Amino acid sequence: MTTRSTPRSPAINFSSPEAASGDLNVRWIHGSVSPKHNTDPDIQVHGYNLHTIIMRQNMAVHPEAPFMFLLFGNDRAILLDTGATRSPKFFPLRQTVDNCIEHWLAQHGGNPATYGLVVAHTHLHRDHYEGDSQFLDRPNTVIVGKSLAATIAFYGFQQWPQDQVSFDLGGRVLQVIATPGHEEAEVSIYDPYTQLLLTGDIFYPGRLYVRDWKAFANSIDRMVEFCDRHPIQYLLGCHIEMSIYPRLDYLIRTSYQPYERPLQMTVAQLRSLQAAIAEIDGQPGIHVYSDYIIYNGVPDRYFSYETMNPEAEPGDVC
Ligand SMILES: [Zn+2]
Ligand SMILES: [Zn+2]
Repeated sequence: MTTRSTPRSPAINFSSPEAASGDLNVRWIHGSVSPKHNTDPDIQVHGYNLHTIIMRQNMAVHPEAPFMFLLFGNDRAILLDTGATRSPKFFPLRQTVDNCIEHWLAQHGGNPATYGLVVAHTHLHRDHYEGDSQFLDRPNTVIVGKSLAATIAFYGFQQWPQDQVSFDLGGRVLQVIATPGHEEAEVSIYDPYTQLLLTGDIFYPGRLYVRDWKAFANSIDRMVEFCDRHPIQYLLGCHIEMSIYPRLDYLIRTSYQPYERPLQMTVAQLRSLQAAIAEIDGQPGIHVYSDYIIYNGVPDRYFSYETMNPEAEPGDVC
């Protein structure tokens, strides 16, 4: 399929004091009784609005079923996370993203020969970057390196993790906040256009695995401060593991979550996490709350990725 080069005129205006509306009235694919007979798409593609796409990996392809985000700007798009599976046959992320970009350029104009793609990561766990290799030969594409140093250098942090930096997609200027604690190179990304805060694995309706308690507590404090200063519609993390019933999560590595709760969370729920952190005060253990469960200092073997993936490096977790 050919795509004509269409100059965009005028540029899309992404700056408005009001949040661009979006659709979260979606039934996410959530696995099936028999993964072998699952008929859902490998990747669910949901248009939050015209310039914002949320994707979810099929739980039958990988039980982590992570979410991924594609945000369009006038000059380039950013893909936040590449999922848990390397194989394009089982998990055709590159094809899916290419189709989305081609469609977007056809709808909104822009030159396919120069429109860029940044492949970035919320954090450096394998269920968030395994699809990177599918993008290695993609033109006009930058893949953010997989280390703390590469993350700091790419975004231009001067005083990680205290400072906050801007990242411009062309009129759509994201704010990048350092949020280590679950993983040392984790970032959360705020999009002023939608007023969504993308929180990776540090905050989502599920099991919050803490690797560095002090860093985790400081990151949540910084996120709360950020939410005090910016309008927020929702916080969107990268997994759903809680059911609709308070305090009740699905089993680790299940492939069927028929009564999972919505992805989106609120600032009030983030504040409740801040209070929970003060209450736990660093005590190791599994601390169960209504909307999330905090795993602090629980031995790796309990949830380690390596038990399901012999090639995984020790300590790889979701
Ligand atoms: Zn994860
Ligand atoms: Zn993780």
